[in-house]
Amino acid sequence: MKIFLPGDLVVEVDQAEVAVAIFLHIINSAMSIATLAMIYGAIQRSPWGVNVRHVALGVCFGLGAVIGMLQPLSLGPQAIVDARALFLGFAGAFLSPLGASTALVVAVVGRIVINVNSYTVVGIASIFSAVLMGSLWPKVRDRLRLSGIRALLVLGAMMSVSLFGAYLAPTDGNPVHLVLVLAGYNLCGSVVFGTIIQRQHRRALRERAAQIEATTDPLTGLLNRRSFERLYQQTKDQQGSRGTALLLIDIDRFKGINDRFGHASGDKVLKKLAETLGSVVAVEDSVLRLGGEEFGVILQNRTIEGAMRTAENILSELRIRILIDDTTTISVTVSIGMHYATVPTTTLSQALKAADEALYAAKAEGRDRLVISNPPQEKVELQLA
Ligand code: GH3
Ligand code: MG
Ligand code: MG
Repeated sequence: MKIFLPGDLVVEVDQAEVAVAIFLHIINSAMSIATLAMIYGAIQRSPWGVNVRHVALGVCFGLGAVIGMLQPLSLGPQAIVDARALFLGFAGAFLSPLGASTALVVAVVGRIVINVNSYTVVGIASIFSAVLMGSLWPKVRDRLRLSGIRALLVLGAMMSVSLFGAYLAPTDGNPVHLVLVLAGYNLCGSVVFGTIIQRQHRRALRERAAQIEATTDPLTGLLNRRSFERLYQQTKDQQGSRGTALLLIDIDRFKGINDRFGHASGDKVLKKLAETLGSVVAVEDSVLRLGGEEFGVILQNRTIEGAMRTAENILSELRIRILIDDTTTISVTVSIGMHYATVPTTTLSQALKAADEALYAAKAEGRDRLVISNPPQEKVELQLA
C-alpha cells in the first residue's frame, strides 16, 4: 500500500505498518480530545460570563481541530483526512452559536495556514459540514427522542458526513478504508468523550445553580447578604475611585403592613421596592436584600454630594403607593442610613456600623428620611481634629 508524505514522497508500506500508523494517529487525537473534555469542564465552571466562556471554548475546540489537521492520514499528495470532525461536531453540539462560530473560524484559519492547495476548498467545506451537523444534532436527538449512548452514536454518524471530502480528493486509491476507520473513530469518540463532556456540563450546571441559590434572595431576585463582603471589597479596590457609599434602607412600619394586609401583600411590597431600587441606581452599583425588610446599596465612584443625590433620589422614588388588589393600595416609605468613605481602609463592618447608627437616627427622627453618618461639614471637622 502507498503512503503519501509531504514533499511528494511516496512510500510503499505493508498493511501492518498502515495499521500501526492509524492506531498511533487515533491515540494521538484521542489524547487531544480527552484533554479538551477536561478543559471544557474547567471553563464551564469558571466565573466568566456565558459569552466569554463559549468563545474561550470555541477557541479550544477550533485549536483541537487544527491539532487534528496537523496529524493527517494521507490519501494522496494533496489529500488529508483527519480527526477534525470530532472536535468541530462537538463544538456545534455543545457550544452556543457564538462558541460554534468561533471554533469554525479558528479551524478555517488553521486549515488555510497549514496549506493552500486545490483541496483547501473541500477541506473548508468539511469544517462547515462538521459544525453544521453538530449544531443540528440536538434537534435530531429531540425529534427521535434519543438519549445516552444512542444519541451520541447519532452525533458520531452525523459528524462523519464531513468525511465526504475524502471522495472529492485527488487520490490514487479508494479512500473507503480510511473513511471507515475515521467514521469508527468518530462513533467511538462521540460516545466516550461526549459522555465525559455531558457529565462535565451537568456538573457545571449544578454548581452554577447552587452558587446562584447561595447568593440570591429567592423572593426579590436580589443578591443576598453573602455577596456583601465581596462586592464592597471590589468597589473599594477600584483604581481612582472617588469614594464609596454604603446605604442601609429599611421599610417604615413594615410590620403594620403585614399585620393589616397579610404576609403575601408584604411580599408584594418587598418585590416592588426591590424592582424600583434596581431601576434608580446605576448599573455598576450593587443592590442587595440584607434580610427581612432591609436592603443594602453600594454606590461606587461617587463624590459625597453625588452619593447624597442618589440617596435622596432613592428616598423619593421609594415613597410610593403600591396596588395590592383592585381596591387596596398601600403607601410605603423607607428610612435610609448612609456611610460615605473615601479611605479604602474602611472595613465593611465599620461602614455597616456607621450606616446602621445613621439608620437608627433616621427612624428616631421620624422615619421617611436620609441620615448620613459623616455628612460633608463633619468630614471637614474630622480632618481638622
Ligand atoms: P420600623 O419602621 O421601625 O422599621 O418598623 P418595622 O415594622 O418595619 O420594623 P420591624 O423590624 O419591627 O418589622 C419588620 C417586619 O418585617 C417583621 C417581619 O414580620 C417582616 N418580615 C421580614 N421578612 C419578611 C418577608 O420576607 N416577607 C414579609 N411579608 N414580611 C417580612
Ligand atoms: Mg422596618
Ligand atoms: Mg428592620
